[in-house]
Amino acid sequence: MIKTLLLLGATGDLAGRYLLPALAALRAADRFPDDFQVIAAAREDLDDRAFQRTAAERLERHAPDVPAAARADLLRSVRYQRTEMTDPASLSSLLAGIRQPVAVYLALPPGLYTTVVITLKAAGLPAGSRIALEKPFSEDLDSAVALNRLLAQVVGTAGEQAVFRVDHVLGLPTAQNLLALRLANRVLEPLWNSRHIEQIDILREEDLGLEGRAGYFDRSGTLRDVMQNHMLQVLSLIAMDLPAPLDEHTLRDRKVDVLRSVRRLSRDEAVSRTRRARYTAGRLTDPAGGAGRAVPAYRDEEGVDAARGTETFAEVVLELDSERWSGTRFLFRAGKALHRRRKQVTVRFRPVEHPSAHRAPANELRIGLDGPEDIALHLTGGVSLNLPSLAPVTLAAPPPAADLPAYGHVLLDVLSGGSTLSVRGDEAEAAWHVMTPVLAAWKAGLVPLEEYAAGSAGPL
Ligand code: NDP
Repeated sequence: MIKTLLLLGATGDLAGRYLLPALAALRAADRFPDDFQVIAAAREDLDDRAFQRTAAERLERHAPDVPAAARADLLRSVRYQRTEMTDPASLSSLLAGIRQPVAVYLALPPGLYTTVVITLKAAGLPAGSRIALEKPFSEDLDSAVALNRLLAQVVGTAGEQAVFRVDHVLGLPTAQNLLALRLANRVLEPLWNSRHIEQIDILREEDLGLEGRAGYFDRSGTLRDVMQNHMLQVLSLIAMDLPAPLDEHTLRDRKVDVLRSVRRLSRDEAVSRTRRARYTAGRLTDPAGGAGRAVPAYRDEEGVDAARGTETFAEVVLELDSERWSGTRFLFRAGKALHRRRKQVTVRFRPVEHPSAHRAPANELRIGLDGPEDIALHLTGGVSLNLPSLAPVTLAAPPPAADLPAYGHVLLDVLSGGSTLSVRGDEAEAAWHVMTPVLAAWKAGLVPLEEYAAGSAGPL
């Protein structure tokens, strides 16, 4: 296991909200060696004490469940160094002063990846080190291809083993469970095809607005932020052929097969099968039942350049050309500032063909990915002339208990050299390939930017 984590972008939202809390959870679970060290780096002029103080506040806010002793333990192993990440001399001096090999984690806006990786190349990445990059991996297909090439040069013979493209959704127990659900249940696999499944919805609805993240989000938008990565990863897990043998390499091969089987949208389809929108002023719902919170229109949020026309809501319908899935629709829907929080896959089975069952709604399997939904199979009773109708039945199971936060699993994989939770280079490119016609149609202004009120169900 690599015992030094170099966190580039340690003052950012991701670091404070997810990475530091995950590190504290790992410390509490005793998953690190005692001499594990975190080197936090960013451009802000701080010393160790000042950074540790800020980090302590963030842990208090985002990791209240981790025992205070483990949080304090973690903070004792954190050092801070002000670093100009785009300056080879600054990065060299940082690398020279720390124990090697090192896991370098780019918790930075994706627009900086190429420059920082070039700087790392110039500074020289110590042998045996790894580089982890956050999603989205680049900004489009061309930049992803170029970045993959660059990374291959930086890590040399270590190859893919030394590169970790993070998609933390893969670390969620529910996402890991998608595969287990299919592997372990004879009931599902025979039905897992277009003959029985009419449509699969992959939903990612958030009940929060921008939350001060304009610096990153306004240059990204929903399609790049979550659909090209998280949601296509979920598609891969849902739609892939079961990997045999069940090893890391075969698993990734089967996931890439799915992405490559997505039928490329024509220009007309990219218009007729996609929607984009952004929120106007409204009131976000309070899950606790309170009065909610007023938010301004996205265009008026601090740091937003309204002229960019960034979408906060996206919808895309795809189809797969494969023996298993030709004929099933895959609907992707994601948005911010909606009336509810829902990260879910809904598998809609085809209606029963028996003439007496014509009024029965179709069965649905709902799989919650990150709360609050569980796994639920909805079986509906048919309505017929002579037979009594059956009351709808819901078979539900609570989500699997999480031993660690998703980022805890991600960080363990980064440090220990695992690859199940990382997106392979060709996989990242295949995912951009899927979304390229959509990005092109949107950029050309062929799909109007609709509006929806914050706190509503989305555009009508
Ligand atoms: P932030 O905007 O909070 O910035 C992250 C870090 O990058 C900060 O330390 C920031 O320093 C630094 N930074 C920004 N611009 C520059 C620059 N020009 N030169 C040097 N440093 C710079 O982003 P997030 O932390 O929200 O996101 C980082 C990555 O993590 C993104 O790729 C995002 O997609 C991904 N991610 C984020 C999640 C989240 O909830 N935040 C969730 C999942 C993934 P400074 O403070 O000085 O600006």
